[in-house]
Amino acid sequence: MKYNALKGVHDIFPPDIYIWQKVESAAEEVFSAYGFQEIRVPIIEATDIFTRSIGETTDIVEKEMYTFPDKAGRSITLRPEGTAPVVRSYIENHLYNQPSPQKFFYSGPMFRYERPQKGRFRQFYQIGAEAFGAAEPKLDAEIISMLKLFLERLELKELNFEVNSIGCEKCRPDYKKALSDFFSNKISGLCPDCNRRYIHNPLRILDCKVDACIELRKNAPQVTNHLCGDCKEHFEGFQSLLKLLNISYVINPNMVRGLDYYTRTTFEVTSEEHLGSQKAVAAGGRYDRLVEEFGGPPTPAIGFAIGMERLVEILRNQNSGLHSGPKAFFATIGPKADTEGFLIAEKLRAKGINVELGYGDASLKSQLRRADKLKADYVFIIGDDELKSGRVKWKNLRDSSQGEIGIEEIPDFKGLRNQP
Ligand code: ATP
Ligand code: MG
Repeated sequence: MKYNALKGVHDIFPPDIYIWQKVESAAEEVFSAYGFQEIRVPIIEATDIFTRSIGETTDIVEKEMYTFPDKAGRSITLRPEGTAPVVRSYIENHLYNQPSPQKFFYSGPMFRYERPQKGRFRQFYQIGAEAFGAAEPKLDAEIISMLKLFLERLELKELNFEVNSIGCEKCRPDYKKALSDFFSNKISGLCPDCNRRYIHNPLRILDCKVDACIELRKNAPQVTNHLCGDCKEHFEGFQSLLKLLNISYVINPNMVRGLDYYTRTTFEVTSEEHLGSQKAVAAGGRYDRLVEEFGGPPTPAIGFAIGMERLVEILRNQNSGLHSGPKAFFATIGPKADTEGFLIAEKLRAKGINVELGYGDASLKSQLRRADKLKADYVFIIGDDELKSGRVKWKNLRDSSQGEIGIEEIPDFKGLRNQP
Protein backbone atom coordinates (compact mmCIF):
# COMPACT_ATOMS: atom_id res chain seq x y z
CA MET A 1 0.00 0.00 0.00
CA LYS A 2 1.42 3.37 -0.96
CA TYR A 3 -0.06 6.60 0.28
CA ASN A 4 0.22 10.00 -1.32
CA ALA A 5 -0.57 13.44 0.05
CA LEU A 6 -3.84 14.94 -1.17
CA LYS A 7 -3.91 17.05 -4.31
CA GLY A 8 -2.81 20.65 -3.76
CA VAL A 9 -1.12 20.11 -0.39
CA HIS A 10 2.57 19.68 0.23
CA ASP A 11 5.13 18.61 2.80
CA ILE A 12 7.86 20.98 3.91
CA PHE A 13 11.18 19.42 4.85
CA PRO A 14 14.94 20.12 4.65
CA PRO A 15 16.51 21.98 3.01
CA ASP A 16 13.41 24.13 2.25
CA ILE A 17 12.39 24.13 5.90
CA TYR A 18 15.39 26.35 6.65
CA ILE A 19 14.01 29.01 4.34
CA TRP A 20 10.63 28.73 6.09
CA GLN A 21 12.28 29.11 9.48
CA LYS A 22 14.29 32.08 8.30
CA VAL A 23 11.13 33.78 7.03
CA GLU A 24 9.23 33.06 10.23
CA SER A 25 11.95 34.39 12.49
CA ALA A 26 12.42 37.51 10.34
CA ALA A 27 8.68 38.16 10.62
CA GLU A 28 8.72 37.77 14.38
CA GLU A 29 11.72 40.06 14.70
CA VAL A 30 10.50 42.84 12.41
CA PHE A 31 6.85 42.73 13.49
CA SER A 32 7.83 42.83 17.17
CA ALA A 33 9.76 46.02 16.54
CA TYR A 34 6.44 47.54 15.45
CA GLY A 35 4.61 46.31 18.55
CA PHE A 36 2.83 43.36 16.94
CA GLN A 37 2.28 40.39 19.24
CA GLU A 38 1.61 36.84 18.19
CA ILE A 39 -1.92 35.45 18.28
CA ARG A 40 -2.88 31.83 17.55
CA VAL A 41 -6.41 31.14 16.44
CA PRO A 42 -8.05 27.83 15.49
CA ILE A 43 -7.93 26.34 12.02
CA ILE A 44 -11.66 25.56 12.09
CA GLU A 45 -14.41 28.09 12.64
CA ALA A 46 -18.17 28.24 12.17
CA THR A 47 -18.81 28.71 8.44
CA ASP A 48 -20.79 31.93 8.98
CA ILE A 49 -17.69 33.72 10.18
CA PHE A 50 -16.26 33.53 6.69
CA THR A 51 -19.37 33.86 4.54
CA ARG A 52 -20.45 36.99 6.38
CA SER A 53 -17.10 38.74 6.45
CA ILE A 54 -15.42 37.71 3.20
CA GLY A 55 -18.67 38.15 1.27
CA GLU A 56 -21.12 35.80 -0.45
CA THR A 57 -20.10 36.83 -3.95
CA THR A 58 -16.33 36.48 -3.54
CA ASP A 59 -14.35 33.69 -5.18
CA ILE A 60 -13.37 32.38 -1.78
CA VAL A 61 -16.92 31.94 -0.52
CA GLU A 62 -18.48 30.98 -3.84
CA LYS A 63 -15.95 28.36 -4.88
CA GLU A 64 -13.02 27.83 -2.60
CA MET A 65 -14.13 27.00 0.92
CA TYR A 66 -13.51 23.68 2.63
CA THR A 67 -16.88 23.47 4.33
CA PHE A 68 -18.41 20.36 5.85
CA PRO A 69 -20.74 19.31 8.63
CA ASP A 70 -19.13 18.01 11.81
CA LYS A 71 -20.57 15.00 13.64
CA ALA A 72 -23.23 17.13 15.29
CA GLY A 73 -24.27 18.58 11.94
CA ARG A 74 -22.78 22.07 12.47
CA SER A 75 -21.32 23.64 9.36
CA ILE A 76 -17.64 24.24 9.93
CA THR A 77 -14.99 25.59 7.57
CA LEU A 78 -11.24 25.21 7.39
CA ARG A 79 -10.09 28.81 7.54
CA PRO A 80 -9.40 30.27 4.07
CA GLU A 81 -7.78 33.35 5.60
CA GLY A 82 -6.80 34.71 8.98
CA THR A 83 -8.49 38.07 9.41
CA ALA A 84 -12.01 36.84 10.20
CA PRO A 85 -10.83 34.42 12.94
CA VAL A 86 -8.62 37.12 14.50
CA VAL A 87 -11.54 39.57 14.48
CA ARG A 88 -13.75 36.90 16.06
CA SER A 89 -11.15 36.35 18.76
CA TYR A 90 -10.62 40.08 19.32
CA ILE A 91 -14.31 40.51 20.05
CA GLU A 92 -14.93 37.24 21.89
CA ASN A 93 -12.02 37.84 24.26
CA HIS A 94 -12.85 41.56 24.74
CA LEU A 95 -9.36 42.48 23.57
CA TYR A 96 -10.80 45.90 22.68
CA ASN A 97 -10.74 46.70 26.40
CA GLN A 98 -6.95 47.02 26.18
CA PRO A 99 -5.47 50.40 25.18
CA SER A 100 -5.61 50.97 21.41
CA PRO A 101 -4.21 50.25 18.98
CA GLN A 102 -3.83 46.52 19.50
CA LYS A 103 -1.51 44.80 17.06
CA PHE A 104 -1.30 41.09 16.32
CA PHE A 105 0.48 38.79 13.92
CA TYR A 106 -0.12 35.13 13.11
CA SER A 107 1.27 32.44 10.91
CA GLY A 108 -0.20 29.15 9.86
CA PRO A 109 -2.01 27.12 7.23
CA MET A 110 -5.01 28.36 5.24
CA PHE A 111 -7.25 26.23 3.04
CA ARG A 112 -8.84 27.02 -0.29
CA TYR A 113 -10.25 24.60 -2.81
CA GLU A 114 -8.43 26.01 -5.82
CA ARG A 115 -6.97 24.51 -8.97
CA PRO A 116 -3.42 23.69 -7.87
CA GLN A 117 -0.64 25.29 -9.91
CA LYS A 118 2.63 27.07 -9.35
CA GLY A 119 2.18 29.39 -6.37
CA ARG A 120 -1.37 28.15 -5.75
CA PHE A 121 -2.18 25.36 -3.32
CA ARG A 122 -5.15 24.00 -1.38
CA GLN A 123 -3.31 24.11 1.90
CA PHE A 124 -0.98 27.08 1.89
CA TYR A 125 0.58 29.17 4.62
CA GLN A 126 0.23 32.80 5.43
CA ILE A 127 1.92 35.14 7.82
CA GLY A 128 -0.46 37.93 8.59
CA ALA A 129 -0.76 41.00 10.76
CA GLU A 130 -3.82 42.86 12.02
CA ALA A 131 -3.97 46.16 13.89
CA PHE A 132 -7.12 47.36 15.63
CA GLY A 133 -8.22 50.71 16.93
CA ALA A 134 -6.54 53.45 14.88
CA ALA A 135 -8.11 55.06 11.85
CA GLU A 136 -5.36 57.48 10.93
CA PRO A 137 -3.21 56.97 7.83
CA LYS A 138 -0.14 56.73 10.03
CA LEU A 139 -1.07 53.14 10.80
CA ASP A 140 -1.53 52.34 7.09
CA ALA A 141 1.89 53.78 6.29
CA GLU A 142 3.46 52.02 9.26
CA ILE A 143 2.11 48.67 8.11
CA ILE A 144 3.45 49.15 4.59
CA SER A 145 6.80 50.21 5.98
CA MET A 146 6.89 47.15 8.25
CA LEU A 147 6.11 44.87 5.31
CA LYS A 148 8.83 46.51 3.26
CA LEU A 149 11.38 46.18 6.04
CA PHE A 150 10.49 42.52 6.47
CA LEU A 151 10.84 41.76 2.75
CA GLU A 152 14.09 43.70 2.58
CA ARG A 153 15.40 41.81 5.60
CA LEU A 154 14.92 38.70 3.47
CA GLU A 155 16.80 40.42 0.65
CA LEU A 156 13.85 40.33 -1.70
CA LYS A 157 14.44 42.40 -4.77
CA GLU A 158 12.26 43.97 -7.45
CA LEU A 159 9.25 44.56 -5.26
CA ASN A 160 6.34 46.67 -6.40
CA PHE A 161 3.95 48.27 -3.95
CA GLU A 162 0.49 48.89 -5.37
CA VAL A 163 -1.99 50.90 -3.36
CA ASN A 164 -5.57 52.02 -3.75
CA SER A 165 -8.45 53.39 -1.75
CA ILE A 166 -11.84 51.79 -2.23
CA GLY A 167 -13.76 54.27 -0.11
CA CYS A 168 -16.18 53.75 2.75
CA GLU A 169 -19.87 53.06 3.22
CA LYS A 170 -20.54 56.72 2.41
CA CYS A 171 -18.88 56.86 -1.01
CA ARG A 172 -19.24 53.21 -2.04
CA PRO A 173 -22.91 53.43 -3.18
CA ASP A 174 -22.07 56.29 -5.55
CA TYR A 175 -19.19 54.32 -7.04
CA LYS A 176 -21.24 51.13 -7.31
CA LYS A 177 -23.85 53.08 -9.21
CA ALA A 178 -21.23 54.50 -11.58
CA LEU A 179 -19.92 50.98 -12.20
CA SER A 180 -23.41 49.57 -12.78
CA ASP A 181 -24.12 52.33 -15.29
CA PHE A 182 -20.83 51.66 -17.05
CA PHE A 183 -21.40 47.91 -17.35
CA SER A 184 -25.14 48.10 -18.10
CA ASN A 185 -24.61 47.84 -21.87
CA LYS A 186 -21.75 45.32 -21.58
CA ILE A 187 -23.46 42.60 -19.58
CA SER A 188 -23.71 40.13 -22.44
CA GLY A 189 -19.93 40.29 -22.93
CA LEU A 190 -19.14 39.56 -19.27
CA CYS A 191 -18.45 36.05 -17.97
CA PRO A 192 -21.27 34.22 -16.12
CA ASP A 193 -19.66 35.00 -12.75
CA CYS A 194 -19.53 38.71 -13.57
CA ASN A 195 -23.15 38.61 -14.67
CA ARG A 196 -23.97 37.59 -11.13
CA ARG A 197 -21.49 40.09 -9.72
CA TYR A 198 -23.15 42.82 -11.78
CA ILE A 199 -26.33 42.25 -9.82
CA HIS A 200 -24.90 41.62 -6.35
CA ASN A 201 -21.61 43.52 -6.20
CA PRO A 202 -20.32 45.19 -9.38
CA LEU A 203 -17.04 46.01 -7.61
CA ARG A 204 -16.14 42.34 -7.89
CA ILE A 205 -16.03 42.63 -11.71
CA LEU A 206 -12.81 44.62 -11.27
CA ASP A 207 -11.25 41.58 -9.60
CA CYS A 208 -12.22 39.08 -12.34
CA LYS A 209 -9.40 37.25 -14.08
CA VAL A 210 -11.29 36.36 -17.30
CA ASP A 211 -9.74 38.07 -20.37
CA ALA A 212 -13.04 39.30 -21.81
CA CYS A 213 -13.94 40.99 -18.52
CA ILE A 214 -10.49 42.56 -18.23
CA GLU A 215 -10.94 43.98 -21.72
CA LEU A 216 -14.46 45.27 -21.06
CA ARG A 217 -13.49 47.04 -17.85
CA LYS A 218 -10.64 49.00 -19.43
CA ASN A 219 -12.39 52.35 -19.29
CA ALA A 220 -14.47 51.65 -16.20
CA PRO A 221 -14.88 54.55 -13.79
CA GLN A 222 -12.12 54.64 -11.19
CA VAL A 223 -12.91 54.45 -7.53
CA THR A 224 -10.35 57.12 -6.70
CA ASN A 225 -12.53 59.64 -8.59
CA HIS A 226 -15.54 58.75 -6.45
CA LEU A 227 -14.13 59.05 -2.94
CA CYS A 228 -15.93 61.19 -0.37
CA GLY A 229 -14.04 64.07 1.23
CA ASP A 230 -12.92 62.07 4.27
CA CYS A 231 -11.70 59.09 2.24
CA LYS A 232 -9.89 61.39 -0.15
CA GLU A 233 -8.15 63.12 2.72
CA HIS A 234 -7.24 59.75 4.24
CA PHE A 235 -5.80 58.46 0.97
CA GLU A 236 -3.80 61.65 0.47
CA GLY A 237 -2.50 61.52 4.03
CA PHE A 238 -1.46 57.92 3.51
CA GLN A 239 0.37 58.76 0.31
CA SER A 240 2.21 61.73 1.74
CA LEU A 241 3.50 59.52 4.55
CA LEU A 242 4.66 56.92 2.01
CA LYS A 243 6.55 59.70 0.27
CA LEU A 244 8.09 60.86 3.53
CA LEU A 245 9.24 57.28 4.11
CA ASN A 246 10.68 57.13 0.58
CA ILE A 247 8.52 54.16 -0.29
CA SER A 248 7.86 54.08 -4.00
CA TYR A 249 4.41 52.86 -4.98
CA VAL A 250 1.93 52.96 -7.81
CA ILE A 251 -1.80 53.57 -7.52
CA ASN A 252 -3.75 50.69 -9.01
CA PRO A 253 -7.35 51.94 -9.18
CA ASN A 254 -8.59 48.48 -10.15
CA MET A 255 -7.30 46.81 -7.03
CA VAL A 256 -10.46 46.06 -5.06
CA ARG A 257 -9.08 42.84 -3.55
CA GLY A 258 -10.90 39.53 -3.30
CA LEU A 259 -12.69 40.15 -0.01
CA ASP A 260 -15.72 42.29 0.67
CA TYR A 261 -14.74 43.63 4.06
CA TYR A 262 -12.17 46.13 2.85
CA THR A 263 -12.66 49.89 3.20
CA ARG A 264 -10.33 52.72 2.18
CA THR A 265 -6.72 51.58 1.84
CA THR A 266 -5.96 48.37 -0.07
CA PHE A 267 -2.51 47.27 -1.15
CA GLU A 268 -0.55 44.49 -2.77
CA VAL A 269 3.12 43.68 -2.99
CA THR A 270 4.13 41.96 -6.19
CA SER A 271 7.45 40.56 -7.26
CA GLU A 272 8.69 40.23 -10.80
CA GLU A 273 10.64 37.12 -9.96
CA HIS A 274 9.80 33.54 -10.88
CA LEU A 275 6.13 33.46 -10.08
CA GLY A 276 4.47 33.46 -13.47
CA SER A 277 1.00 34.92 -13.14
CA GLN A 278 0.93 34.42 -9.35
CA LYS A 279 2.77 37.63 -8.61
CA ALA A 280 1.18 38.85 -5.40
CA VAL A 281 3.37 37.97 -2.44
CA ALA A 282 1.44 39.95 0.12
CA ALA A 283 -1.85 41.79 0.19
CA GLY A 284 -4.06 43.60 2.61
CA GLY A 285 -6.13 46.60 3.47
CA ARG A 286 -8.29 48.45 5.93
CA TYR A 287 -11.49 46.97 7.27
CA ASP A 288 -12.93 49.74 9.38
CA ARG A 289 -16.43 48.25 9.60
CA LEU A 290 -15.75 44.55 10.17
CA VAL A 291 -15.37 44.54 13.97
CA GLU A 292 -18.68 46.33 14.35
CA GLU A 293 -20.38 44.03 11.83
CA PHE A 294 -19.18 41.11 13.94
CA GLY A 295 -20.91 42.59 16.98
CA GLY A 296 -17.93 44.40 18.49
CA PRO A 297 -17.58 48.11 19.23
CA PRO A 298 -16.83 50.40 16.24
CA THR A 299 -13.13 49.73 15.66
CA PRO A 300 -11.13 50.78 12.62
CA ALA A 301 -8.59 48.14 11.61
CA ILE A 302 -6.06 47.20 8.97
CA GLY A 303 -4.12 44.06 8.13
CA PHE A 304 -2.29 42.06 5.51
CA ALA A 305 -1.27 38.51 4.69
CA ILE A 306 1.90 37.21 3.10
CA GLY A 307 1.76 34.09 0.94
CA MET A 308 4.53 31.91 2.35
CA GLU A 309 4.87 29.51 -0.58
CA ARG A 310 5.34 32.35 -3.04
CA LEU A 311 7.85 34.05 -0.81
CA VAL A 312 9.78 30.82 -0.24
CA GLU A 313 9.76 30.13 -3.98
CA ILE A 314 11.47 33.46 -4.65
CA LEU A 315 13.95 32.95 -1.84
CA ARG A 316 14.76 29.44 -3.03
CA ASN A 317 15.60 30.86 -6.44
CA GLN A 318 17.81 33.41 -4.75
CA ASN A 319 19.59 30.64 -2.84
CA SER A 320 18.55 32.20 0.39
CA GLY A 321 18.41 30.62 3.83
CA LEU A 322 21.05 28.01 3.12
CA HIS A 323 21.45 26.07 6.27
CA SER A 324 24.78 25.65 8.00
CA GLY A 325 25.59 22.08 8.92
CA PRO A 326 26.93 20.64 12.16
CA LYS A 327 30.01 22.23 13.69
CA ALA A 328 31.66 18.87 14.17
CA PHE A 329 31.34 15.36 12.87
CA PHE A 330 32.99 12.49 14.75
CA ALA A 331 33.96 9.73 12.36
CA THR A 332 34.93 6.71 14.41
CA ILE A 333 36.47 3.33 13.74
CA GLY A 334 35.63 0.49 16.11
CA PRO A 335 33.34 0.24 19.13
CA LYS A 336 35.71 1.86 21.67
CA ALA A 337 36.30 4.90 19.51
CA ASP A 338 32.59 5.00 18.80
CA THR A 339 31.80 5.29 22.52
CA GLU A 340 34.55 7.87 23.05
CA GLY A 341 33.23 9.99 20.15
CA PHE A 342 29.72 9.67 21.53
CA LEU A 343 30.80 10.94 24.97
CA ILE A 344 32.67 13.95 23.60
CA ALA A 345 29.75 14.73 21.31
CA GLU A 346 27.43 14.73 24.31
CA LYS A 347 29.70 17.22 26.12
CA LEU A 348 29.64 19.54 23.13
CA ARG A 349 25.90 19.18 22.58
CA ALA A 350 25.33 20.15 26.23
CA LYS A 351 27.00 23.45 25.33
CA GLY A 352 24.55 23.89 22.46
CA ILE A 353 27.04 22.93 19.76
CA ASN A 354 25.63 20.97 16.82
CA VAL A 355 27.53 17.66 16.56
CA GLU A 356 26.90 14.60 14.41
CA LEU A 357 28.28 11.08 14.62
CA GLY A 358 28.69 7.96 12.57
CA TYR A 359 26.02 5.30 13.17
CA GLY A 360 25.68 1.59 12.55
CA ASP A 361 29.22 0.41 11.74
CA ALA A 362 29.41 2.69 8.71
CA SER A 363 32.81 2.59 7.01
CA LEU A 364 35.09 5.58 7.47
CA LYS A 365 34.50 6.46 3.85
CA SER A 366 30.74 6.51 4.16
CA GLN A 367 30.94 8.48 7.43
CA LEU A 368 33.07 11.10 5.67
CA ARG A 369 30.61 11.18 2.81
CA ARG A 370 27.81 11.87 5.26
CA ALA A 371 29.85 14.60 7.00
CA ASP A 372 30.33 16.23 3.63
CA LYS A 373 26.66 15.93 2.73
CA LEU A 374 25.63 17.45 6.06
CA LYS A 375 28.03 20.32 5.40
CA ALA A 376 29.88 19.80 8.69
CA ASP A 377 32.54 22.40 9.51
CA TYR A 378 35.04 20.01 11.13
CA VAL A 379 35.56 16.27 11.00
CA PHE A 380 37.39 14.47 13.81
CA ILE A 381 38.64 10.98 13.04
CA ILE A 382 38.97 8.63 16.00
CA GLY A 383 40.29 5.06 15.80
CA ASP A 384 42.26 2.67 18.05
CA ASP A 385 45.58 4.46 17.37
CA GLU A 386 44.07 7.79 18.36
CA LEU A 387 42.66 6.31 21.56
CA LYS A 388 46.11 4.96 22.42
CA SER A 389 47.99 8.18 21.69
CA GLY A 390 45.24 10.41 23.06
CA ARG A 391 45.51 12.65 19.98
CA VAL A 392 43.11 12.86 17.05
CA LYS A 393 43.20 14.36 13.57
CA TRP A 394 40.80 17.10 12.61
CA LYS A 395 39.97 18.50 9.21
CA ASN A 396 38.15 21.69 8.33
CA LEU A 397 35.87 20.77 5.41
CA ARG A 398 35.46 24.40 4.36
CA ASP A 399 39.06 25.46 3.88
CA SER A 400 40.68 21.98 3.95
CA SER A 401 43.04 22.96 6.76
CA GLN A 402 43.91 20.13 9.14
CA GLY A 403 45.72 19.41 12.36
CA GLU A 404 45.85 17.35 15.51
CA ILE A 405 44.43 17.85 18.96
CA GLY A 406 44.40 16.01 22.29
CA ILE A 407 41.07 14.19 22.82
CA GLU A 408 40.59 15.96 26.16
CA GLU A 409 40.97 19.36 24.49
CA ILE A 410 38.26 18.87 21.87
CA PRO A 411 35.48 20.49 23.94
CA ASP A 412 37.60 23.67 24.06
CA PHE A 413 38.63 23.60 20.40
CA LYS A 414 38.32 27.16 19.10
CA GLY A 415 36.69 26.22 15.77
CA LEU A 416 33.74 24.64 17.56
CA ARG A 417 32.61 27.65 19.51
CA ASN A 418 29.22 28.97 18.48
CA GLN A 419 29.39 32.48 17.11
CA PRO A 420 27.90 34.96 19.60
P1 ATP B 1 -4.89 35.63 -5.79
O1 ATP B 1 -5.42 36.82 -6.51
O2 ATP B 1 -3.50 35.27 -6.19
O3 ATP B 1 -5.85 34.46 -5.80
P2 ATP B 1 -5.95 36.38 -3.26
O4 ATP B 1 -6.49 37.73 -3.50
O5 ATP B 1 -6.90 35.24 -3.24
O6 ATP B 1 -4.74 36.08 -4.27
P3 ATP B 1 -5.42 36.89 -0.49
O7 ATP B 1 -6.67 36.25 -0.05
O8 ATP B 1 -5.29 38.34 -0.40
O9 ATP B 1 -5.06 36.39 -1.95
O10 ATP B 1 -4.16 36.21 0.26
C1 ATP B 1 -2.93 36.90 0.46
C2 ATP B 1 -1.78 36.16 -0.15
O11 ATP B 1 -1.85 34.76 0.12
C3 ATP B 1 -1.73 36.21 -1.67
O12 ATP B 1 -1.12 37.40 -2.09
C4 ATP B 1 -0.89 35.00 -2.01
O13 ATP B 1 0.50 35.29 -1.88
C5 ATP B 1 -1.29 34.02 -0.96
N1 ATP B 1 -2.27 33.04 -1.48
C6 ATP B 1 -3.59 33.22 -1.69
N2 ATP B 1 -4.15 32.08 -2.16
C7 ATP B 1 -3.15 31.16 -2.24
C8 ATP B 1 -3.08 29.79 -2.63
N3 ATP B 1 -4.15 29.11 -3.03
N4 ATP B 1 -1.87 29.16 -2.59
C9 ATP B 1 -0.76 29.83 -2.17
N5 ATP B 1 -0.76 31.11 -1.78
C10 ATP B 1 -1.94 31.78 -1.81
MG1 MG C 1 -7.49 33.89 -4.68
